[in-house]
Amino acid sequence: MKVAASYSFKEEIKAEADRLGFQKTGFAEIVPLEFESGYFKNWLDEGYHGSMSWLANSYSKRINPAALLPGAKSIIVVAINYFHPQKSIKDSVGRVSRYAWGNDYHVVVKEKLVKLWEFILTAKPDSKGIINVDSGPVMEKLWAKRAGIGWQGKHTLILDKDVGSWIFLGSIITDIKFDCDMPAEDYCGNCTLCIDSCPTNAIIAPYQLNASKCISYFTIEHSDDVSKDVVNKMGNWIFGCDVCQSVCPWNKNTPTGVAEFKPKEFSSGLEFDKVLAMSEDEFKNIFSNNPIRRRGLKGLVENVQRIYKKQ
Ligand code: SF4
Ligand code: SF4
Repeated sequence: MKVAASYSFKEEIKAEADRLGFQKTGFAEIVPLEFESGYFKNWLDEGYHGSMSWLANSYSKRINPAALLPGAKSIIVVAINYFHPQKSIKDSVGRVSRYAWGNDYHVVVKEKLVKLWEFILTAKPDSKGIINVDSGPVMEKLWAKRAGIGWQGKHTLILDKDVGSWIFLGSIITDIKFDCDMPAEDYCGNCTLCIDSCPTNAIIAPYQLNASKCISYFTIEHSDDVSKDVVNKMGNWIFGCDVCQSVCPWNKNTPTGVAEFKPKEFSSGLEFDKVLAMSEDEFKNIFSNNPIRRRGLKGLVENVQRIYKKQ
C-alpha cells in the first residue's frame, strides 16, 4: 500500500475503518492502567462483578495489555453503530436487548477488524497485533475513553457524541507506535436519567455500576437463583436490558447501515411458551449466529421461567 505524503498512515487506517463500516476509530498509547487499576481493584473487592470470576482472575492482564502482547505500543479502538428501529415490541413476551437482535457482534466486528489488520499489514508486514471484541482480558471501555471514541456515561457505557451508546467496541493491540488521540469530553452534565430509570438500582452512583445487580448480568452471565425482589423488578427482560440506554438523550437512534445487525424475527419479543417448548435443534437453528446462543437453551429457559412464574 502506498501512503500519500500528505495523508498519514493513521489517517489511512481511519479511512479504511470508515470504509469497513466503523463510525469511529481512535488510537491510544499502551501504558499500564495505573489510575484505573485502583478503581477496578476496589470494584472487584466490593464484589460488584458477582459470579463473573474471570474478571478477577485476569486482573493483571487487564491492567497491563503489554502482558498480552510483549512490545505492545498502541491500541486501535473502533466503534460501530448497531441501532435498528423496532416499532412493535410486545408487552406480553420476553424482551431481548437490542445488541442481540442481529448476528453475533463478536463475529461481525471481528471479521471487520481482521480486514483492517490485513490492511495495516500491507504497509507494516512485520507487525504484531491482537484483535479483541469483548472476549479477551482487555478493558475496552477504558481504552475507548483514552482513544477518544467517546466518554463513559454515568451508566458506565461509552457514548459517542454523534451516535450515542448503541455501539459495539473492538480493538487491536499492536507493536506499531502511533500518535495518540485526545480523550473525549464528558457530556453527561447534570443528567441522571439512566440512574433514575434503572429498575434494580444497579447504577449505585454516577459512573459506578454494581454489575451483580444489573438485569443484563442476571439474564446473560448468572445461572443461580435470583431473589423474588429482583425478579419483580426485571420486567419482561429475558436477555439483557436496554432501559438505561433508551432514556439517554445522547442516543440519536440513527439506524445502522450494517446488514448483519438487521433484527431477526424474535427481536419484537420471544413468546414464553415457545421458549419453554423449544428443542435443542430449534434453539440452534434460531440462535446459531446470535449472542443468545452463548446463554444456551437451558439458560434461556431459566430466564423465561423466572419471569413466567411471577405472572
Ligand atoms: S442495563 Fe438495565 S439493570 Fe443494568 S444498569 Fe442499565 S437499566 Fe440498570
Ligand atoms: S442518561 Fe444522562 S447521565 Fe446517563 S449516560 Fe446519558 S447523558 Fe449521561
